[in-house]
Order: sequence, then C-alpha cells, then structure tokens
Amino acid sequence: SVVTRFAPSPTGFLHIGGARTALFNWLFARHHGGKFCLRIEDTDRARSTEAAVAAIFDGIKWLGLDWDGEAVFQFARMDRHAEVARQLVAEGKAYYCYCTPEELEKIREQQRAEGKPMRYPGIWRDRDPADGPKDQKPVVRLKAPQDGETIIDDLVQGQVKVANAQLDDMVLLRGDGTPTYMLSVVVDDHDMGITHVIRGDDHLTNAFRQFQLYKACGWDVPVFAHIPLIHGPDGAKLSKRHGALGAEAYRDMGFLPEAMRNYLLRLGWSHGDDEIISTEQAIEWFGLEQVGRSPSRFDMTKLTNLNGHYLRLADDARLVELVVPLMEAKLARAADPAAKARLAAGMAGMKERAKTVIELADMGLFYLAARPLSFDEKAAKNLAEPEQASLLKEFAAQLDGADWTKSVLEEAARQFAEGRGQKLGKIAQPLRAALTGSSVSPPIFEVMEVLGRAETMGRIEDAGR
Ligand code: GLU
Repeated sequence: SVVTRFAPSPTGFLHIGGARTALFNWLFARHHGGKFCLRIEDTDRARSTEAAVAAIFDGIKWLGLDWDGEAVFQFARMDRHAEVARQLVAEGKAYYCYCTPEELEKIREQQRAEGKPMRYPGIWRDRDPADGPKDQKPVVRLKAPQDGETIIDDLVQGQVKVANAQLDDMVLLRGDGTPTYMLSVVVDDHDMGITHVIRGDDHLTNAFRQFQLYKACGWDVPVFAHIPLIHGPDGAKLSKRHGALGAEAYRDMGFLPEAMRNYLLRLGWSHGDDEIISTEQAIEWFGLEQVGRSPSRFDMTKLTNLNGHYLRLADDARLVELVVPLMEAKLARAADPAAKARLAAGMAGMKERAKTVIELADMGLFYLAARPLSFDEKAAKNLAEPEQASLLKEFAAQLDGADWTKSVLEEAARQFAEGRGQKLGKIAQPLRAALTGSSVSPPIFEVMEVLGRAETMGRIEDAGR
C-alpha cells in the first residue's frame, strides 16, 4: 500500500512550494487509502529552529492536511544512519577515505584548470584503510558504480538517466561521524516504508545518487515523482512579492484553507478544464499522471477569486468566528452578544460580496460597532447637508408600523422618493451614511432588516444630532 511523506527542512516557514508538495503527497496517499507521513529534516543544526518547526506544523494543520503517526525528526535518527554506512563499509560497498580537505582542494583546482567537472577520483576506493594516517578521521564514501548508467522512471519527468561516470563516490559519513543529507534521506525513507517520493524537481539530481545508495543497501527503490517548481506570474523564480510566503501569511491575508487547497492543487495539476475542485473531489481524482511538466505560475488574482467562491460556501457561524477577532482589534473593544447576532444575521448577504476574510471584516464592521457610529468623511458630509438630514428624518417617521423586511422597506423608500420627485438614491445615501457610517455597504434595505427596527431608528436619531 502507498506511503508518502512530506520532509521539510525547518530552516524557514512553510512556503507555498512546500505547501503544494505536502498537499500532493497527502492527496496521493488519501486517494490510494495509504499513509501520509511527516518528517522534519532538522540535521542542519545551525539553521534549523524550533520556531520554524512550529510554523511548519501550524501551516500543515491550518491547511487541513492530517498526517499519520508521529512526525519523525531526522536528527534523532543519526545513529541509525551511521550504522547503515558502517554496514556498507563492512560489506565492501562503501569505504573510508582519508583525503584531507587540502588534498581535495588541490584536486578540484586542477580539475577546474582543465575545465573538467569536479569529481572525487576514487583515491581511497581500493586502498587499504590501514594505510590511513592514524591521527585523521576518515569520511565514508559510497563505492558507486563507475560504468553504465543510472536510470530513473520518474512518474512526472518520465525516464531520466545519467552516466555513472558523471557521479563520483559521494560522502555518506563525515569525518566527525555525522551522516550526510543524502544518507539520512535514503535511510529514513526506507525505514519509514515510503513507497512514493513526491517532491520538487530541484531534487531530481539527488535522486540519481539516492538510487545508487538504495541499490548498495539492497533496498527497494521508491517511485519518484519530481514536480516542476512554482514560478512567479512573470515566469521568474517565485519571490516574496509574488507569494513565496509562509502559510500563515495567507491565513492573515484572509484566505480560507479550502480555497488554498484548491488553488495549490491547480498549481501543476489539472483535471480537464475544472478550476473549482473540492477537496473530496480532489482525493477522488488525484493522480501523478496529470501533473504537468512545465513550471506553474503563481497568480494572486486567481487565488483571490477562488477564495471568494469558498467564502460564499462557508458556514456563516464559522465566518463570524473568523472576523470577530479582527473587528474587535479594530474597534479596540469586545463585541457584545447583540452586536455578534447582528453580524451573524448580516453574514449571508456580506459573504456574497467579499473575496477575503479581511474584506468581510471591513465590510461588516458597522454591524458590530456600537452607537453612536463614527462616520467617514463622505458619510459625514452627506449627513451634514440639511436637505438630506431632513429627508432622513421624514422617512424614518413614516416607518412606524411598517413590516421590517427589506422588500417592504425598499418599497416604502421608493414611494417616499417618488412622492418628492426624487430618485431612490436621494434617500438611500443618507440612510447608508447613518446606518453604516460609510458610503459603501451591503444593500441598504438588507442592512435595515438585519439591524432591526430599534437599532435602525437609534442610528438614524444619532445621525441627526
Ligand atoms: N528536506 C528537503 C527540503 O526541504 C526535502 C527532501 C526530500 O523531499 O527528499 O527541500
């Protein structure tokens, strides 16, 4: 059965490329009823931080990608990695190399001068390690095949190969006994029973060496799938400006995780012309055959539009919970239950018009605000005109006993305006200013219905003071 993994290095936040890799691995595992594992590759002690580990967990959880079993921390498995290297030495598949850094530098210099690629020429490959200087700690190198080629049938890239003469004997253990990245990845993937390695195509060249290492260990090689990287809208490498941000940045920009999942899915994977694909549907459809071979482009507008779609589908109560903290921060006070109820009642209308949670919070702030409202410049100006102010007062006086529904209220406003030879806007504008403190808002008769009679009348009175 299928076992996949996401193996981030905790040297930074969970960026968009990592999030997509995680999603693809998760979808592939869920599609096949397999397992999705998480491994934190924290062997770079200088650059790995606890904050980054926390940010990665948070980001994956926020995206809704649940992993199976406990997360594996790579650094803690160092002894196991070293054991595998020593076993390979015992079997004659790896060897101790006593070259000093100075020696290696000299070889490199010469290769550079001759315009040759830099490769370790196998100096200690067949030497007796007993010849090694006693005061020097050797590294362990893989005795890599020197003839033929290494061929990988990649599920995305197709068949890729390299002449073995191009790959030198890579280091598995450093002089201080610590494993190299290449060794750790292979041992962990093997021990975790990983069947499919799905990751960015920046790791494709590593796959050849990893393949050789699997073979030396006598282990089954997992299936590889290297996904083209994500580029910016201009085709250049993804930069911060383009969206190379952490998952939490997208949450803070007001995106919903389900929108993010849909968007990330479409970055490199397609199903005909479908753009809106629910997670359930994605699990049913996902496969690596439909991953494209060219880099995908990050498009903020597309993400924003998708988010608008998922906002409309989202449960009102959930959206209230998302916007209330933002609004409370803006208003610098806690919302009372009546205010929250107004907001909840207005949510259905608002979510049709917003594209992000931030927009939603801005749009609905007036529902949560307490009387008297503060007015923006335009609203204040509108209400300061005596003609508007008296129209507002007159109209309000006519609403006594009216059924408090938006259609009745709108009809009343129409008749009121007509009776004075005016357009509807003449009364709608001061109403909007008085009730929302702004000149833009959800449809004003809907606002009146949501606010209710008492709050509406109170706000109109406030505006006339
Ligand atoms: N830790 C590597 C990275 O963050 C991924 C290694 C792998 O997927 O094999 O780029």
